[in-house]
Amino acid sequence: MAPLTRRDVLLAGLAFPGIADAVFRDAPGDDSSLKPKRFEETAGFEVAEAVASHPLAILPLGSLEFHGPHNPLGADSIIISGIAQRVAARTGGLLFPAIQFTQCPAHTAHFRGTLSVRPEVMTMYFADILRSILHVGFRKVFILNGHDGNIGPGRGAIVQVADESKDAALLFVSWWEFLSSEMMKSLSMFHQANGGHGHGGPLETSAVAAFRPDLIHLEKARDLPEPPDLSGGAPYFLQKSTAVDWPGYSGKVSEASAEKGKRLVEISEEGIVKLIENWLKHDEVPGSW
Ligand SMILES: [Zn+2]
Repeated sequence: MAPLTRRDVLLAGLAFPGIADAVFRDAPGDDSSLKPKRFEETAGFEVAEAVASHPLAILPLGSLEFHGPHNPLGADSIIISGIAQRVAARTGGLLFPAIQFTQCPAHTAHFRGTLSVRPEVMTMYFADILRSILHVGFRKVFILNGHDGNIGPGRGAIVQVADESKDAALLFVSWWEFLSSEMMKSLSMFHQANGGHGHGGPLETSAVAAFRPDLIHLEKARDLPEPPDLSGGAPYFLQKSTAVDWPGYSGKVSEASAEKGKRLVEISEEGIVKLIENWLKHDEVPGSW
């Protein structure tokens, strides 16, 4: 009998109901209570009613980017679409399709498989999408981000559109921000000084596996050093123009699993839902604070 590979073990998780629940929860028609109204499925005659009955629009941002040999190119899009579906269902948001063709940083742009839009084009493109969502009639737009290359263009576009509008509010957050290094260290899931963060690392790979374990190939990757923490925990932004002798991911990917990923996306989902609930409770448009 051939020895079991890591992928076999990951796929075997499908046999256990708890894992299968995590895997199939993203499947259409699986759980009607977690099935949000989708913009692309809204009929023309329903638009006014859909805007009136949903307090916010939810726009997920993904990417098509090399995440190491073990991850699908749509890793960010898979994670953010899965989380956004559940968040939209729980908060009453109208779910827009994820934007997947986005800007990728230089250190992953040269890998075959990365598709990148120039940052200035991305900013204009993203601003046009936001303008269109406001034109449909939404006053609150929640942008749920799954890719770090979207942060600069995304915030640039939001600033522009908010400046042009008189009665709009746009909220932007990235899903991994609800999993701080400190929290990750206390969870002890991954034996890395930063708790598992890093491009294509164990945290991100686990989150992909929570939704699509069939697309993960751990046997194709070896464990690598994690990215160094230069500040002792405080956030910073470092951009390198190229990557030399870097295989396109970091960290102890052998520690990734669908079970861990399910727990991580649940923690993130809870934080995002709370953020939106607080926003809907406290925010008034035009703003009072
Ligand atoms: Zn990613």
